[in-house]
This record gives sequence, C-alpha cells and structure tokens, in this order.
Amino acid sequence: MQKATQDTPQGARSAFATPRRRYFTKSHAFSIRMRHMPTRPRPKLTLRTLLLAFALICAIATLANTFVVMFTTQKAELVENALQTNEAYAARIATSVEEVLSSELDRLGFASTVIGRAFTDRSALHDEAHRLLSQDHSFNSVLIANAEGKIIASAPSSLQLDGQVLQRRSPLTRREPMISDAFKSLAGNLVVFVSHPIFSRNGEYLGLVGGSIRLEQKNTLQALMDLNIREDGAHVYLVDSHRQVLYHPDPERIGTILATDPIVEAALQHSYGSMRAMNSSGNEMLAGFASIPSSRWSVISQRPLSNIEATLEATTIKVAKGILPLGVFGLLLIWWLGVKISVPLSRLAESAKRLDAPESYERILAVPADYFESWQIRRALLLGANLLQEKIGRLNQQAHSDPLTGLANRRAMEETLALWQQTLKTFAAIAVDIDHFKRVNDTYGHAVGDEALRTVAQLMRQASRPDDLVCRVGGEEFLLLLPNGSIATGAEVAERLRTVIEAAELDTVGHITISLGVALWRAGESMSDTLERSDRLLYQAKAQGRNRVVTEKELSAVAQS
Ligand code: GH3
Ligand code: MG
Ligand code: MG
Repeated sequence: MQKATQDTPQGARSAFATPRRRYFTKSHAFSIRMRHMPTRPRPKLTLRTLLLAFALICAIATLANTFVVMFTTQKAELVENALQTNEAYAARIATSVEEVLSSELDRLGFASTVIGRAFTDRSALHDEAHRLLSQDHSFNSVLIANAEGKIIASAPSSLQLDGQVLQRRSPLTRREPMISDAFKSLAGNLVVFVSHPIFSRNGEYLGLVGGSIRLEQKNTLQALMDLNIREDGAHVYLVDSHRQVLYHPDPERIGTILATDPIVEAALQHSYGSMRAMNSSGNEMLAGFASIPSSRWSVISQRPLSNIEATLEATTIKVAKGILPLGVFGLLLIWWLGVKISVPLSRLAESAKRLDAPESYERILAVPADYFESWQIRRALLLGANLLQEKIGRLNQQAHSDPLTGLANRRAMEETLALWQQTLKTFAAIAVDIDHFKRVNDTYGHAVGDEALRTVAQLMRQASRPDDLVCRVGGEEFLLLLPNGSIATGAEVAERLRTVIEAAELDTVGHITISLGVALWRAGESMSDTLERSDRLLYQAKAQGRNRVVTEKELSAVAQS
C-alpha cells in the first residue's frame, strides 16, 4: 500500500488534489500575442456617435452660416434700399411742397398787381383780402400791409388785425416774394407767412400782401403730406431752417425744435441726400432728405432700422420654416448613412473582440460589407480568424497529447474526467505500468526504451475502442479510461491488453510484460479516488509477481500467464 502510494505518479496525484483550469482555453493562446501589444484605455466614443455628431455639427454650421450670410446681405440690401427710397421720397414731396408754395406765391403775385393799382382804396383792399381768403383754403388769414408794415386790410375780420404792425420785418426790407419760417402770430398761433411785395404801376414799393398758414390745424401742406403716408413704417416730416417742425404725422411734434438731430443737421446743410443715424429720440434711423429751395425748409423721410430688422426677422423665420422639412429630411438621410457606414464596422469590431471564438468566422462572414473599407477589413478579419483557429487547434492538440507516444496526456485526461464528472458518466479506470522497464533502459539504452514505449502505446491504442481514452500519465505508466465501463469489461480489456503486450515481439527488446489495476468509479466518490484505487490495485499486481491484472472486488488475479 505504502509502495503503491509512493510509486503513483506524483504529477497526476497533485493535479487531481488541486483542480486545474479545465480547458486549454483560447485566452491562453491569445495572451501570447496580446502580451506584446500596447495597452491603451479603451475609447468610449463609437464610430456611429462620431459620425452622427459630425453630421449634426456640419448641418448646424452650414445652416447657421447660411442664415448669417443671408441675414447680413439682406440687411445691407434693405438698408441701402430704404436709404434710396427715403431720399427719392423726400425729393418727391419736396417738389410737391415747392409746387404748392409757388402756386400760393403766384396767386399772391397776381393779387398784388390788382392791389397795387387800387392801393388807396381801402374797401377794394378789404374785398381783395376776403377774396384771397375764400379762394385759397391754404391761408387761415390774409393781410395787406403798407410799406411801414402797418396792416391796412385783413381777413377774416374776426382776427381784428387792421391797424396792427407786422412782427416780421424781413419781407418789408427784402421786398421780394417770401416764405417765412414758423413763428407765433399776433393771434398766438404757430404759422408760416407767405408774402408778395406790392409795387405801384411806376415801380414804387407800397407794401405787401400775405397769407398765414396755421400749422397746428388742417392746412394744404398737411393735406399733401397726409396723402403720402407710407405703409413700410417710414414717416415724413417737414422742418424749417430753424429746425422747427412744420409738419409731423404726430401732431404733438409740430412746433417742436429738433436741436440735436444729426439728420436735421444734414438736411439743412445739403439740398438732398440720405444717411443712417440716431435721431433725437435715440432710435437708429434710415433717412432721406431734400430741401425746398423757395423756403429753405427740408423734407425728411425716415424709417427706423428696427423696422427693417423686424421685417428681416420675419423673413428669416419664414425661410427657416421653409427649410425645416428639407433639413429634417437631410438629417435623417445623414443619420441613415451614418448607420449604414458604422454598423458593419462596429459589428466587425465586436467580432474582432472574440476572434478566437469557434463561431467567429461565420459571424464575421455574416456582417454586410457594402463598401470597400468594410469589405477589406472583413476580409482581413476572416483571414485572422482562420489563422487563429488553426493555431488554437494546433496548440490544443499539442497541449493535450504526449509528444513521445502521441497518446493523450494528463491534461487531456483531467479535462475528460471533469467532463464525465459533470455529466455523471460512469467509467472504469485501468492503471498500467511496464514491468522492469528500468532494465530495458539499462540494457539497451534510453532510445530503445523510448521506441519500446511508442510500440506499447500503439498496441494499447489498437486494443482499445474509439471511445476509450488512452493516456500516458508518467514515464512508462499509462491509464485507460473506459466510459460506461463495468468491472467485467474493465477486467476483460485489461486482460486483452496484457496478453497483447506479452505476445508482442518488440524490436531489440523482445518480449516485455505489463501489470494492471482495474477500478470502477463509484457514484459519489471523487474521480481521483477511483484513480488512486486503480493505482493501488496495479501495485498489488506488481507485488503478486507482475504480468497480471488485479481488479476490484475480487481482488484476485484474473489471469496469469
Ligand atoms: P517495476 O516492475 O517495479 O515497475 O520495475 P521498473 O524497472 O519498471 O520500475 P519503475 O517502474 O519504477 O521504473 C521506471 C523506469 O522507467 C525508470 C526509467 O528508467 C524508465 N523510464 C521512465 N520514463 C522513461 C522514458 O520516457 N523513456 C525511457 N526510455 N525510459 C523511461
Ligand atoms: Mg513505473
Ligand atoms: Mg515499471
């Protein structure tokens, strides 16, 4: 018993005492290569995320760029357009105002000729003043003054102007047709005064005839301006040479003085033009202006910049709404393309992680590769998987077989037993040891001993069934595992083996014999216990004289040569 324990191959026993890795796994084969590869942290970004982010950034950048360019060019164009429109508009209105004023002057001029002929006839002057007032709705009052500025006739009589002296002396001194700036009249109204000198038949200056236009109530100028109200948010106003507002769509502003307005400043300095500037209320304006030569007034047409921006914003929103469906479609298309590009690569990358898996070849083959790069990568991976599988197969075989005899080695035996244990497969174990093999070596040398071992292995393989596992577990020690075997079949196979070896004529060595121990796995016991028992039985066979089989239960020699 003691001897048997000592002689049992130590490697085999220790292997069973401490269970080893079950399979010769691919990870082992793989680690050989991986060891030399640089290890970098695994990136979290995937190709699909990258592609989608890229597509999204491109789409947004393009859209934003389009909108910015569209917005700025449109704005510049609208601003330029508004400036030109306002200038043209101011010029047109200035011409109309000029026409109205000159027709007033013409009328007064005609009247002055009539008055000049009958200047001393007070009642005729009075009639003429009334006629002018009733004929011309522009004036709220008409007066005739002598060369000293004293009013000698006026209409309407209700104003009681007769006998008063003109406030403005310049028409008297300049003695020419004149249109005044705005001023407060004797009656306390804000007016402009249109006057024409009166000369006698022989050219003597007699005085003037004039009409006042009251600015704060309905008048010809206002009617003219109101006719031209625009719908694009622009408005027109009229200022005199002292910056006082003569007309404004907001009646509150009439009479106010625009002291600091740069637009008014420019309008008074130039006969026409346009500019972009802050007005006196602090709003940025696009203004056009034109002067009225006969009066030195200016017409200003202006439009707030914010008005254009609002128009532009409305247009931009419209455009955005128009682009949206196409944009969404474009994004979806890009997304679809992104998926189409990334799916094969991500599936190939996934397969590459388990290139050593047995089914990896089929898995890689199933990946659609519709474009060149994916096709090329798939091809390379298939090649790699093939090579790896081949290599693994070779390594597997090497790891599971004994190099001298080609029989299964101890690792293969352990794995087979572990599998049987899992499936609760019963088995018979036959432990085999060549008798006096040391002598063979001593007598014929190690090489001949090796050759004898190979022959014995071959004979053992021939004597066993395909399902049986024949292992070389030590130097000249073997183990036969018979799945689903019984004591009887185990004893039978062992005996057959014994006789075959005994009968065989080995090269150089001649005849040799073997001793065998047969044990049966008992349900519940560990595999190593069964092997240990077969070992003990083998050494009993040795003890009993060798060249025999000792089986369990009977514990007796079944056969003896
Ligand atoms: P026994 O009948 O008691 O088994 O006697 P034995 O001489 O066979 O004794 P043992 O089994 O202890 O001897 C094993 C010998 O087998 C020792 C060694 O010389 C020889 N041997 C072990 N492995 C090899 C091998 O791989 N090749 C060769 N040629 N000889 C081996
Ligand atoms: Mg031995
Ligand atoms: Mg021996």
